[in-house]
Parts: sequence; structure tokens; C-alpha cells
Amino acid sequence: MTTHNHDTPNPYHESARDDAENKALTERVNKMEALLLEKGLVSQDALDKLTDIYENDLGPMNGANVVARAWIDPDFKKRLFENATSAIAELGYGGLQGEHMVAVENTPEIHNIVVCTLCSCYPWPVLGLPPAWYKSFAYRSKVVIEPRKVLAEFGTTLADDVEVRVWDSSAEIRYLVIPERPEGTENLSESELAAIVERDSMIGVTKVSAP
Ligand code: FE
Repeated sequence: MTTHNHDTPNPYHESARDDAENKALTERVNKMEALLLEKGLVSQDALDKLTDIYENDLGPMNGANVVARAWIDPDFKKRLFENATSAIAELGYGGLQGEHMVAVENTPEIHNIVVCTLCSCYPWPVLGLPPAWYKSFAYRSKVVIEPRKVLAEFGTTLADDVEVRVWDSSAEIRYLVIPERPEGTENLSESELAAIVERDSMIGVTKVSAP
């Protein structure tokens, strides 16, 4: 399981809600859940199954597996950039919010970043649910205008001659950034490679570093 690097300076960090707000939100969700159950609109089994899917089946570990496979298997990589949806499905990932995937490759010349300027569209099957900062107005508005500034705020600096491309997700298309494979990882296995790929690098705001 990959984790968010909390050492990274990140002004869009997911600590935006304070404790009181969290408590109020939890109470509201609990009340809604109780009401839905009471009225027979959902079953406890269905709720448990959904929670289980979001906690265990969907998440950045899936995207990390896609990236690691692309790094070690040139044929897979070719298929991934031709048709990301079907290549990702080869690894067993797909479905809701991942029906039309596009993979974009970071190279020494090009750096890709993903945003949803309208709301929070995000590739659930490979990255799970979006972090709070991805949904924040600050990120959505600023990354389009000043992508390099946003990158710097995430601790990512690029050479001046690197082209930055910002991809705006929509209800139709979801993007997955395939970060550059770091130097010094030639001897790592596919699963060891997957373990170093963090969520933020697949949104494009950070790079992957060697372990
Ligand atoms: Fe959206």
C-alpha cells in the first residue's frame, strides 16, 4: 500500500477540515445511514460491501501496479498508451469512473499533471477516491494558471525546458500519469517498483524517487 508522503510541503493538504467539522460530518453520515437502513432503502450487507470495496479493492496500489508493469513490459506500455482502459483491464481494474482511461507519460522533456477544473473527476479504479486537496478550489484554479508554482509547492521542481501539460478530467475521460522510472531501480522487481509509486506521482504533482 502506498502512502501519502506527509513530509512533502503541500498547501493543499487534506487537513482542511478541523475536528469539529469532522465530528459534525460523521454525525450527519451516521444519521443518514441509519435513516436509509430504517426505510429499507439500502441493506447493511450492501453498505458493508461498498465500504469493503473502497477500503480494500480500490486505491493507488492499483495504479502503482499499472505503472510498474508499464516500466518493465514494453508491450504492455505500448498497449497502455494506445488504449489505457483495455490495458488497465488486463490487470483486473476497471468499472465505475474508469470507463474511459487515458494514460499520459512523464519523460525528461514532458511533465503531465491532472486536474478536474469543474469538480473532482478522478480515476477511481486505479487511484481510489480523490484526496481533499484535489477537490479544493485552490488546486483546481491555480494548477491551470500556474502549474509550475503548484508543482514547486509540492516540492517538485522542473528544468525550464521541460514542457508542462495540464490535463482537465471530465465525466468522459480520466487520466493516469505514468511517472518516470527513477534511476537506480534497474534491479527492482515489479512488486518492489510498485511499492515506490505514490498516489501523488500518478496525479502528476510529484515524481517517483528511488528507495
Ligand atoms: Fe469532476
